[in-house]
Amino acid sequence: MSSQTRSIVQKSLDALLEDESFLPDCQGDVRTQAFTSLAAILSTPNHIHKSFLRIPLEGNKVVRIPAFRVQHNNAMGPYKGGIRFHESVNEDEVVNLASLMTLKNALHDVPFGGGKGGVVINPRDFTEKELHLISKKYVQYFSDIIGPDKDIPAPDMGSGEREMDWMMAEYKSIRPGTPYRGSFTGKSVVNGGSLGRREATGKGVYFSLRYMLHDFINDQKNLLTNTDNIFAKTLLDFEEKPLKLAVQGFGNVGSVAALEADRCQYLQNKVVAVSDRNVTLVNQEGLDIPALIQYTSKNRGDLPTTEEQLEQAGVKATIEDREKVLYLDVDVLMLAALEDQIHKNNVDQIKANIIVEGANAPVTAEADKALSDQGVIIIPDILANAGGVIVSYFEWLQGRETQFYTEEQVFKLLYDKMMRTMDTILPLYFGDPFPLRQNCYIHSVMKLSTVLYRQGKLY
Ligand code: NAD
Repeated sequence: MSSQTRSIVQKSLDALLEDESFLPDCQGDVRTQAFTSLAAILSTPNHIHKSFLRIPLEGNKVVRIPAFRVQHNNAMGPYKGGIRFHESVNEDEVVNLASLMTLKNALHDVPFGGGKGGVVINPRDFTEKELHLISKKYVQYFSDIIGPDKDIPAPDMGSGEREMDWMMAEYKSIRPGTPYRGSFTGKSVVNGGSLGRREATGKGVYFSLRYMLHDFINDQKNLLTNTDNIFAKTLLDFEEKPLKLAVQGFGNVGSVAALEADRCQYLQNKVVAVSDRNVTLVNQEGLDIPALIQYTSKNRGDLPTTEEQLEQAGVKATIEDREKVLYLDVDVLMLAALEDQIHKNNVDQIKANIIVEGANAPVTAEADKALSDQGVIIIPDILANAGGVIVSYFEWLQGRETQFYTEEQVFKLLYDKMMRTMDTILPLYFGDPFPLRQNCYIHSVMKLSTVLYRQGKLY
């Protein structure tokens, strides 16, 4: 677990320990001991599994690829979390991401625990056949610890429905006769995936912004105007104001969030910048997001990087370096690429007043504090990017029932779930001095603590 996550979990436990209305039948020394146990349980994973996958490459060379599966906590249900294919994957990162999954699921009342996987590769360096073998080997090496009621992986950065289809098929051959459909989520629709799963995270990320800036402002005008909370002031400054957005990362999450912004009828949005691993594209009049999506779908996910490629895409933009997206003069910055993008060395250059975390942990603790102190609203990862796991839960349910929902039903269920969480958290946030992330953590830790206490796990 990163020091940032650990410290916010500990602050949440401290706040709950003080609040005697929480777990009222647990008082005195027993209470102190219970909270010490909670800190130990929540700050460490249940299991860290590591293997070196033996992969014969197409040129006959054999490589050994490090691969992880971390199972953080299963108090709320089977472990659940994506498998990242990226060259920077390491054990600490996977542990932290698994712990965020525990907190995210608890926050949104998804009956899963937290897990995460990782394979240390750049998928672009491998052929399709080699990636197929890597995916199958991952399942072979971890088949004893995953499964529809144990630990259910899903895609993450660098993996997608193709890999989930391969993995589910391998699980089915290794464990014949088991209800294999629920062993992986994020599969293609023909293989039992849910309609809407691919778009779910990006749609949820944008929904968290739209709900706060439109529905919440309209419903809670009294609360917002009668408080001296600095975040309420920031929010009211945006009421009915045209918004300029920049989006870092134009993959599964970023491109869908950008498209949602482009199409939104509730807010006056303009996506003026998008970026990826190579480039930032800027157009103050608004970028042609559908044209860019079409271009990336034909070019291995990459945005145009030259004037000729922009012309080919039919898009007007200026080409800047990839970091530029972070420092533009925009209202909203959506971070949908990697961890640690805003940190103590660049936080002074951030101009956006609202930051939405589509990626996991893209803002470090120091940067988070500096921005929050200035009244910048940060919609944190565990609140904003839960769309994927929420629809994964619907996929898992549909696999069990062998009944499938329409896309419209899936998005309605997704928004209802996110709305319930936001309706619980936002009035607290705008009514007290805690940043939004802290409020979300308090809520998650409260649920996890109650469950662990009632399960008799604290002594
Ligand atoms: P993806 O692989 O589809 O896209 C990643 C994007 O980030 C690409 O456009 C890539 O070019 C860009 N990128 C890579 N390195 C970059 C860099 N250094 N600077 C700028 N851009 C860079 O991944 P995704 O599924 O969109 O996931 C993005 C983030 O969202 C990850 O942090 C992931 O953990 C998180 N997330 C994803 C989901 C999901 O359902 N896909 C759910 C929750 C959280």
